Amino acid sequence: MTEQEHPEHDETLTAEDAAGSQYVVIGGPERKAERTNIVVMKFGGSSVADATCIKRVASRIVDARKEGHPVVAVVSARGDTTDELIAAAREISENPPAREMDMLLSTGERISAALLAMAIHELGYEAISLTGSQAGIVTDTVHTKAKILDIKPHRIRRALDEEKIVLVAGFQGVSTDQDVTTLGRGGSDTTAVALAAALGAEACMIFTDVDGIYTTDPRIVPEARKLDFISNDEMLELTAGGAKVMMLRSIEVARRYDVPLWVRSSFTDAPGTLIGQDDRGMEQAIVSGVTYALDDAKVTVHDLPDKIGVAAKVFTTLAKTNVNVDVIIQNVSAGGSADISFTVAEDDLPKVTSVLAGLQAELGFKSFDVDKEVAKVTLVGAGMKTYPGIAAKMFEVLAENGINLEMISTSSIKISCVIRRSSVETAVKALHAAFHMHDGMASREEVFS
Ligand code: ADP
Ligand code: ASP
Ligand code: MG
Repeated sequence: MTEQEHPEHDETLTAEDAAGSQYVVIGGPERKAERTNIVVMKFGGSSVADATCIKRVASRIVDARKEGHPVVAVVSARGDTTDELIAAAREISENPPAREMDMLLSTGERISAALLAMAIHELGYEAISLTGSQAGIVTDTVHTKAKILDIKPHRIRRALDEEKIVLVAGFQGVSTDQDVTTLGRGGSDTTAVALAAALGAEACMIFTDVDGIYTTDPRIVPEARKLDFISNDEMLELTAGGAKVMMLRSIEVARRYDVPLWVRSSFTDAPGTLIGQDDRGMEQAIVSGVTYALDDAKVTVHDLPDKIGVAAKVFTTLAKTNVNVDVIIQNVSAGGSADISFTVAEDDLPKVTSVLAGLQAELGFKSFDVDKEVAKVTLVGAGMKTYPGIAAKMFEVLAENGINLEMISTSSIKISCVIRRSSVETAVKALHAAFHMHDGMASREEVFS
């Protein structure tokens, strides 16, 4: 790393700090940024895909500047660049070192930032592009899925004071070991929201190829309706349920630091969707959205002895290997043994099978199997808290469509069902129609008639 790239630490974060930190620390509570009129604008891959797009984005940034806002713009890699870089690495190595993957992947966002700076110069405004590291984004040392620990935005502030427009390469930072890190797929959303929190920005605007958050993915259900507002809690559930429009962690940061977050179109001036604190009171729709995830697999462990501590052993061992378990069910049989099924990210299957193979003799279970043909469909709505019968209606709709429920999990504002992957589109379309999501706030009578 060059001198230039080194973030200006005003205190040194140690590796121990990093390991012990569960949460994003952005400036620390005592240094919580005061609200300013800075705006943070983030442009996704399709918004900067070619020269025409980059010029359009440059004018949009300059317009915000003309309105009197100091602007920090975060950019993603152009088009499919990140996928292409991953493919290039795979051509060289089946299992490339994670540190080198980060060196490689971080370049995509740097290209976008530099080109955008050039386009802004062409419009007669001063702009400076910064890497994540130069922008002061300090992360832990977990390559390819690093978490932001702190942001030290001195260099950004200095550039803004010099009347420059600041472009930050998204999705990356510098670790406490001073290596380049990336934040995981979709990570530029998190860069933008975290910078908005650290700078006390007036707003964080995510510009993308849809004009806001919809009741479901508009690519699957064309009649999906754009929402003017969605609460942080609902957005967290939609994202955890698989809606890839925003990175999950960006919503966590927005909620924690109360960042005013908008999702808007890169191509129109429509105001988009506000994601924020829920103050709708009784005005809530019964359900706000339906989403699905295709990247989970179901694992079943057969004939586990039905003894205290057996499930704990399985799940603590998985947790220690950093495997995130989602939905779990247990069936106890009459013969004193139990089957446990759970879902995990398909990518984690190699770790899961090695953990289970290692535990089989110790715990004395008969066998385990893996099923990749599952999907999760999730219904989300803050209105569920006050309307009984939503789960019953959801199960009825799925049954009417011949869809078998394999697993169920709920929270106060969501219901998730694990089903066959081949049924997922039918399920999403049927639920969207049955809960009248296309035409606004359906009444109880409409939904339950
Ligand atoms: P970007 O490249 O700008 O980060 P993404 O592809 O990550 O954009 O996210 C935008 C896409 O998210 C949309 O094109 C849309 O297909 C998809 N999407 C999934 N669920 C939703 C939803 N509920 N509302 C809006 N878009 C959604
Ligand atoms: N370019 C990265 C990705 O494709 C990060 C991002 O776009 O937010 O996942
Ligand atoms: Mg994205």
